[in-house]
Amino acid sequence: MIQKPVLIVGGGIGGLTLSLCLSKEGIASRVFERRGNFAETGAGIQLSPNCMRVYDYLGIVDLIRSFAYEPDCVQFLDGKQNRILAEIQLGASLAEDYGFPYYNVNRAQLVELLARLASEDDLIQLYPGCEVTAFGSVGSDVKIEVDGNDFDGSLLVGADGINSTVRSQIFGSDEAVFTGHVAWRAQVPIESISSTFHNKVSRVWWGRRKHLVAYPVQNGRLLNCVAVVENKSWASDSWHQPGDPRELTEEFADWAPEVQEIIKSIPSSDLFKWGLFHRSDLKTWREGLFVLLGDACHAPLPFMAQGAAMAIEDAACLALCLSRSDSVKSGFEAYEEFRKSRTQKVKSMSARNGRIFHLSGVAAFLRNNFLKVFDLKVDRFLYSYNVFDINERLSNKGSTLL
Ligand SMILES: Cc1cc2nc3c(=O)[nH]c(=O)nc-3n(C[C@H](O)[C@H](O)[C@H](O)COP(=O)(O)OP(=O)(O)OC[C@H]3O[C@@H](n4cnc5c(N)ncnc54)[C@H](O)[C@@H]3O)c2cc1C
Repeated sequence: MIQKPVLIVGGGIGGLTLSLCLSKEGIASRVFERRGNFAETGAGIQLSPNCMRVYDYLGIVDLIRSFAYEPDCVQFLDGKQNRILAEIQLGASLAEDYGFPYYNVNRAQLVELLARLASEDDLIQLYPGCEVTAFGSVGSDVKIEVDGNDFDGSLLVGADGINSTVRSQIFGSDEAVFTGHVAWRAQVPIESISSTFHNKVSRVWWGRRKHLVAYPVQNGRLLNCVAVVENKSWASDSWHQPGDPRELTEEFADWAPEVQEIIKSIPSSDLFKWGLFHRSDLKTWREGLFVLLGDACHAPLPFMAQGAAMAIEDAACLALCLSRSDSVKSGFEAYEEFRKSRTQKVKSMSARNGRIFHLSGVAAFLRNNFLKVFDLKVDRFLYSYNVFDINERLSNKGSTLL
């Protein structure tokens, strides 16, 4: 059904995973990435069992394990007292329950691996350093023009992130709205911090209108830190804008010594600050031969660590829908039908998490007491999701799809 390659705009986690999933289904693709050499930023990312299932299908779990860190648990703590409010077991018990591990990785290493595998794959062509600004459809094909060269394809996927060019050109530009959250990120070398943090524990400190997350990556050599503070003033959405260590220190000045120790250990050249933005939901993710994937159509706030996981699930789903459908249109329809409600639910769960993390006063007291009585558990809805169930659902749909 798909005669020409699939054109993928954006070679981030979603776009590269899509190219590998399409190849697994025998479909060729071309990936256009504006950054040179697919060089991602050195931030951490948590990969939960629901997306590791996709990497298992691609046969690359062992390769990811070689640079991953598998935390034993995640602790939620009171930011001022460093008191543990709740703990969720991860590690071997989670892997056993869900069939796949929970890994902390450095996103630069993950993207490097995906790009290397794609570059070695005969069905995939990579175009680093190519920013796509001009594209359209010609008859039953799509076309991208970069630096005076034309590339034809059967369909085009916008996997170009929250500020997607494909989204704004195909679906109209909507204003990204500042959520009132400012975030800082940094990575602390583990040897520059006390032994309290030399273990397989991910931590999230909660407090009034702010929280801080710290978890080990790179085989435990670095502590990846993200702090989020509610702040009315606008901050750029660029991941690469330097942050001021004094400002971060002031924000957390009355928090527990353990939190302050982390902040003091951040190398000032490795602190970045940016604003978190929200985009409204689109009525549809597809138009003719164009479709969106990942943050381009459903970027969540990062309070559940599921944005990349959703892009990875999308990638497997879209590849399967395209390979099992008799037209691009029916493949797109099936993909959107299977993915929309889950990704919308994850978006609203992530926003709700932010509100829970930042409670204060009586509401925080009630939350903390609730946690004394009820064990916090991982959400089965999230981790047990099997994107490959669509195979059965596609075959049940009968003749329109097969
Ligand atoms: C602080 C923070 C922590 C997070 N932690 C987690 C986590 O632990 N787990 C998790 O699952 N998710 C996490 N996320 C979310 C996750 O980072 C995103 O959801 C994920 O990166 C989305 O992947 P994507 O491929 O859709 O988009 P992106 O990663 O944004 O990739 C888009 C790519 O497209 C390229 N591009 C853009 N425009 C063009 C163009 N015109 N032409 C060519 N190329 C273009 C970009 O350079 C980029 O490489 C976190 C997010 C934040 C902000």
